[in-house]
Amino acid sequence: MTTVAYIGLGSNLDNPRQQVEQALQELAQIPETSLVSASPWYQSRAVGPGEQQDYINGVAQLTTGLAPHDLLDQLQAIEHAHERVREIRWGPRTLDLDLLLYGSEIIDTERLQVPHPYLTQRNFVLYPLTDIAPQLILPCGDTLESLMAHCSSDGLHQLKD
Ligand code: ATP
Ligand code: CA
Ligand code: CA
Repeated sequence: MTTVAYIGLGSNLDNPRQQVEQALQELAQIPETSLVSASPWYQSRAVGPGEQQDYINGVAQLTTGLAPHDLLDQLQAIEHAHERVREIRWGPRTLDLDLLLYGSEIIDTERLQVPHPYLTQRNFVLYPLTDIAPQLILPCGDTLESLMAHCSSDGLHQLKD
């Protein structure tokens, strides 16, 4: 049995565009997992502490036979391979991979919360998610369309190339 999972990708260090492009290829290599589609890339203003470079963000749709925590292990292994140094929360990073949604499951453990807790508040997640899954309904029953109706595009723009 496979499950549809959505992954949020982000980078704002060391050639962000290359980091996220490469990460997509690496997502496709995860065992028991296929990369189904990927959104256009977006440039977004950093929201973390201090002055930071803009982010490149996007969302990928996977199908996977892995259990949620095993998928998280794989995402963290890819982050580590990108020499991500976890210094300060919301600080700059070479690669961030968030498990946004795993089917219609609701997961709340110490290591993993799904849907991702800030999913509904982040335009750099909602816009690319809408590009690849406009009809999506969250486990709570909210439609992506209804979330988008209240979502500003402030600080966000889609890259055309
Ligand atoms: P944010 O969660 O606000 O996007 P962040 O991505 O900067 O912040 P990280 O430092 O990447 O946060 O992750 C901190 C911890 O969050 C990880 O060690 C991981 O165990 C946990 N975590 C909980 N839920 C998720 C999820 N859905 N996807 C990825 N990591 C998660
Ligand atoms: Ca994140
Ligand atoms: Ca993260």
